[in-house]
Amino acid sequence: MLRIGCHLSSSKGYLAMGKEADRIGANTFQFFTRNPRGGKAKELDLADIGEYLTFAGEHGIAQILAHAPYTLNACSKDEGLRQFAYETMCDDLARLAHIPGGMYNFHPGSHVKQGVDAGISYIADMLNRIGEQKFSTTILLETMAGKGSEVGRTFEELRAIIDKVEDTEKLGVCLDTCHVFDGGYDIVGDLDGVLDEFDHVIGLERLKAIHINDSKNPCGSHKDRHEKIGEGQIGLTAFAKIVTHPRLKHLPFYLETPNELDGYQREIELLREMASGQEA
Ligand code: FE
Ligand code: FE
Ligand code: ZN
Repeated sequence: MLRIGCHLSSSKGYLAMGKEADRIGANTFQFFTRNPRGGKAKELDLADIGEYLTFAGEHGIAQILAHAPYTLNACSKDEGLRQFAYETMCDDLARLAHIPGGMYNFHPGSHVKQGVDAGISYIADMLNRIGEQKFSTTILLETMAGKGSEVGRTFEELRAIIDKVEDTEKLGVCLDTCHVFDGGYDIVGDLDGVLDEFDHVIGLERLKAIHINDSKNPCGSHKDRHEKIGEGQIGLTAFAKIVTHPRLKHLPFYLETPNELDGYQREIELLREMASGQEA
């Protein structure tokens, strides 16, 4: 059974997200830990989490993915902003300790004229400081489209971060289909080749999650504009291969397409059909 869901608003709490996911045929979901532009997280509501965990258990919802605010920049040249990224992530991870089996995804950051090597070092420094806190949640580096000075536009950049982290047991990668395609990896023409390259450079055992998005722009355009499944440059044939690929189909998939709930529901249905067609 395909593990698939979409990005949901976390404003009403965990139980509300679980119910929403269930209603649209999802068995997982993604959410922002706080306003995506930063700011304070809501008060931790342990009663809500308890009710959510019961509901999730009864409805087969698992492997939910928390997404860090995308304004955090672990490799800012400003030490105060790097410290802010560290503190925010620690606060998020302390909260996520209450959600067993959850994961935490973040954008590595933008080096802004410092050079990619400096960026990589700062990101690894932060991950090492976080590692000292011994949080239980697995942290995922997201593959980026390479817009501006984003770090993580190539598998090699992610590998370089991982190589500098001392304890990598709880460190993985989330592959965003729109971002890697935008970053120049041709998952339409040569999915197997891209996965071989991922395996060779990073190791497929580090791949823990997929952001499943179509792309408004062609391969290599570095623009990061998500499109609805089948309406962009990646297209349905490629998505059918992705959700049935023997090296991917066991992973959780999260939609971040430009949709309201009904649109997400249709995409989940469509991708489930593609996946089950292959099983029969
Ligand atoms: Fe993201
Ligand atoms: Fe993404
Ligand atoms: Zn994106």
